[in-house]
Amino acid sequence: MGLPKAVAVLGSTGSVGRSALDVIARFPGRFRVAALCAGKNAKMLGDQARRFRPAVICLSEERAAARLGRLPAGTRVVFGEQGMTEAVCAKATDTVLAAASGVSSVRPVIAAARLGKRIALANKELLVMAGRFLVEAARAGGARILPVDSEHSAVFQAIEGHRREDVLRIILTASGGPFRNRTLRQMREATVAEALGHPTWRMGTKISVDSATLMNKGLEVIEATWLFGLPPSKIDVTIHPQSVVHSMVEYRDGSLIAQLGIPDMRIPIGYALSYPERLPLELPRFKPHRMDGWTFETPDRRRFPALSMAYAAAEAGRTAPAALNAGNEVAVDAFLSGRIRFTDIAKVVESVMAGWRGGRRNVTLSDVFRADGEAREAAMRRISFIRRP
Ligand code: MG
Repeated sequence: MGLPKAVAVLGSTGSVGRSALDVIARFPGRFRVAALCAGKNAKMLGDQARRFRPAVICLSEERAAARLGRLPAGTRVVFGEQGMTEAVCAKATDTVLAAASGVSSVRPVIAAARLGKRIALANKELLVMAGRFLVEAARAGGARILPVDSEHSAVFQAIEGHRREDVLRIILTASGGPFRNRTLRQMREATVAEALGHPTWRMGTKISVDSATLMNKGLEVIEATWLFGLPPSKIDVTIHPQSVVHSMVEYRDGSLIAQLGIPDMRIPIGYALSYPERLPLELPRFKPHRMDGWTFETPDRRRFPALSMAYAAAEAGRTAPAALNAGNEVAVDAFLSGRIRFTDIAKVVESVMAGWRGGRRNVTLSDVFRADGEAREAAMRRISFIRRP
């Protein structure tokens, strides 16, 4: 087995980050923590540092450091994007688990890919905003990108070893979220608590709201174009409320290969960390006889306009996916803080995208970051015109 792989966990205090640490803790012979990076939750980061004893920990802001508490001797504390870059690019780091939310980890993770580190990718923004740059950096550095998102992990497992020209399409499954059977009028009145009530997966607040609007699935379509080198026209979405089939790949001979399992993020996380091996996770076993009544439905694009907006952004390329992501993030934030209604989220994103100009043909990473900022401003302007619910 060799030395344990040194993992830098970005977003260690978030939902995926904590699951990753749970996996790492269960296999001390295989993994150790090289670095931990978090946003503002310094208290939890301090607790994690005492437990896992990484060489480096990183906080987004220096002023949160006071809440870290007493750290093990020799722990270095670094800050911000530069600190994160240092942590992920350190010689000792083998694998970067990219699960930080937002755009702060885009440049550090690209830098790590260029150095050939394994990237276990959970952060959607990385591929949605900067897919081309990350894929190019990984190619240049000989880095592997292993998806952590359950759907993309499923596709990865179903597509590995097959010829790309034999693939007809990828079918991403979606649970449909808590409003799958609600009318538009009911969705207009939906509370934050209702939007956060995801039926099958337990996740952070932002991604739970994205699952309720189906924007999460839209972002996953964009992710899939980069991860698997396929155009958006070859990626479909189906609603599968039971969340057992995590996604499938259809081949030209009529075969479909799907990956199934219980909804537990430790499975895709573990696979991304240990690929090509599989970890003995010892989770509750799959019981086919208790899993009858699997259903698949076409998503309703009228009630869930986010899906069509995401496809349009994927087709437009350039800075459009970054604008979509940024506009959505601001709108979701406004919904969570009670400033707009649930159904306003799509309206805000729609207005950002309606006037969006994609930018020049060969966009740079700076163009993408500028687009991110402009789309945020456009979204905030639109929100300021909405009457508080
Ligand atoms: Mg997913």
